[in-house]
Amino acid sequence: PYVLTDRGIFRYEQVTYPMEERGLQFGDGVYEVVRLYRGTYVWLREHLDRLYRSAAAIRLSVPFGCEELIEQLEELRRLNDVQEDAILYLQMTRGSFPRNHAFPAENRPNLYAYIQPMARKTEEMTHGVRTILTKDVRWEYCYIKSLNLLPNVLAKQEAVERGAFEAILHRDGVVTEGSSSNIFLVKNETVYTHPATARILNGIVRTKVKQFCAELGIPFVEEAFSTNDLREADELFLTSTTSAIIPIIQVDETVIRSGAPGAVTKALQAAYRQATQRETQN
Ligand code: PMP
Repeated sequence: PYVLTDRGIFRYEQVTYPMEERGLQFGDGVYEVVRLYRGTYVWLREHLDRLYRSAAAIRLSVPFGCEELIEQLEELRRLNDVQEDAILYLQMTRGSFPRNHAFPAENRPNLYAYIQPMARKTEEMTHGVRTILTKDVRWEYCYIKSLNLLPNVLAKQEAVERGAFEAILHRDGVVTEGSSSNIFLVKNETVYTHPATARILNGIVRTKVKQFCAELGIPFVEEAFSTNDLREADELFLTSTTSAIIPIIQVDETVIRSGAPGAVTKALQAAYRQATQRETQN
């Protein structure tokens, strides 16, 4: 396989980083995960726009433009001859320099990106998943897709150890988002989700769900809800690039309604399928 770096495209085995990599030592960088369906990038521009916004938010200036990056990523896809469902992982750090918390004098970011096969989560999408609630202990800049994922890692591990698919995070009883997803609640045919403040990552799929709701005439309310509201919900679902739209059928010990995916969730899943099919036909 081939890897895209700031110095060009190399074979996987040729890419190594020094110990003094700011991404490793400080988590000083940002990243993106982009979906490919049958070898085609989905919503690539939206992801790269967010990458540039994340970079600006940590005062990292990207030494190349979006168009150039897109060309390189298309080349990476061609070289790897990707035909199947996959994801692109892309990360950019403040570079490799002698260890020092303060920024290096020189702007020399490290970039790497690679594509890895990843099947759709068909089973989860069809039957729904179980979740747990856990405290959101993250910092105040969750809108930045930064490499600092330790709280997310710990939350996800807790979910896995309790036999759940995802950990739903809350601050003093207010639901923010999942450890690697956005969380939605359906009540009386209305979709609710946490507003896109600094408390959450504004997911690309989240912004698409907002569009689908507008197209389908489903009221979409960006208003935070509580952990108690979760238990009273008609439907719950989560979204992310790797998960698409997945119904949530249980939170801790509480089964949501009948434990089966609801009608609004299914309608949004259908809209997602149509939208991604359109994207991959061009
Ligand atoms: N929130 C967090 C904390 C995430 O890690 C992710 C996945 N990257 C999301 C939300 C969903 O974002 P997206 O739809 O862009 O994948």
